[in-house]
Amino acid sequence: MTARIIDGKAIAAELRVRVAGEVARIKNANGVTPGLAVVLVGSDPASQVYVRSKHKQTQQAGMASFEHVLPEDVAEADLLAVIAQLNRDPAVHGILVQLPLPKTLHTETVINAIDPAKDVDGLHPNNAGRLAGGFAALSPCTPLGCMILTKSVHASLEGMNAIVIGRSNLVGRPLVQLLLNENATVTIAHSRSRDLAQLCARADLVSAAVGRAEMVRGDWIKPGATVIDVGISRLPAADGKTRLVGDVAFSEALNVAGAITPVPGGVGQMTVACLLVNTLRAACAIHGLPKPGV
Ligand code: NAP
Repeated sequence: MTARIIDGKAIAAELRVRVAGEVARIKNANGVTPGLAVVLVGSDPASQVYVRSKHKQTQQAGMASFEHVLPEDVAEADLLAVIAQLNRDPAVHGILVQLPLPKTLHTETVINAIDPAKDVDGLHPNNAGRLAGGFAALSPCTPLGCMILTKSVHASLEGMNAIVIGRSNLVGRPLVQLLLNENATVTIAHSRSRDLAQLCARADLVSAAVGRAEMVRGDWIKPGATVIDVGISRLPAADGKTRLVGDVAFSEALNVAGAITPVPGGVGQMTVACLLVNTLRAACAIHGLPKPGV
């Protein structure tokens, strides 16, 4: 069997078009332009690339994009003052503080300062708690993207055996809650789990968010299972450069799985598209508009 490759690039592009359509609709009908503010502390090159990509895609969707770049040694009080000002700004519906923050800043304090209604990264405890309780919430973007990719293969997840490997607040835990909300039976695995290969082998759906290159081997996967690979690692390549790989040994899994996301070109493509979705949803909720069609 050769697995179907889930084309994250195409699915993300289609999602962005749908978001842009909804943005145009609420602009015309309600005079509301969704706005996303991204706060970047310091000059980490990878973070700068992410922020540029978010800015470009936000504008392409017809949204307002605001950027706040603060120096590496910014005082926490000054960063909190910027967030407080964004919380008050009626043109801003989504606030994202680019992580990781410099070690001098307390990430939890900074996240907790964001108005939960504008917390488009879904990391504020109010949103995490609401999601865990099964209530409507802004959910983190990467797990939302995983769900869209999974549903591109399975119309219903009801009763499926799913395993999520990784339990971070950013990916694993919220993904577990989203799968539960869809009535999957979810196993949560982490660094202390025993017999991971056997746990995986029972799963109809394997989602890996670990950050260990090619840890999940082909013979861990149940024939026909759907595999969602969140991990991103770099391995040395033959030409002396490096290549991106996921948490799953892709070429092995390809021969066993029913469907699989590639790295790159899978989950990574969905994260910014889902940030646009969350900003649109936040804008509609703040203005008392019906939930958008995406
Ligand atoms: P993280 O905070 O480091 O969490 C990693 C998780 O993996 C932890 O829960 C850890 O368990 C678990 N783990 C570590 N070693 C393990 C092992 N040997 N067996 C089973 N579980 C193990 O990472 P993250 O932020 O969730 O990110 C995970 C990966 O996804 C990274 O490669 C990251 O770059 C990637 N990522 C991609 C996107 C995207 O847009 N594609 C977005 C976010 C993250 P413990 O809890 O027990 O320590």
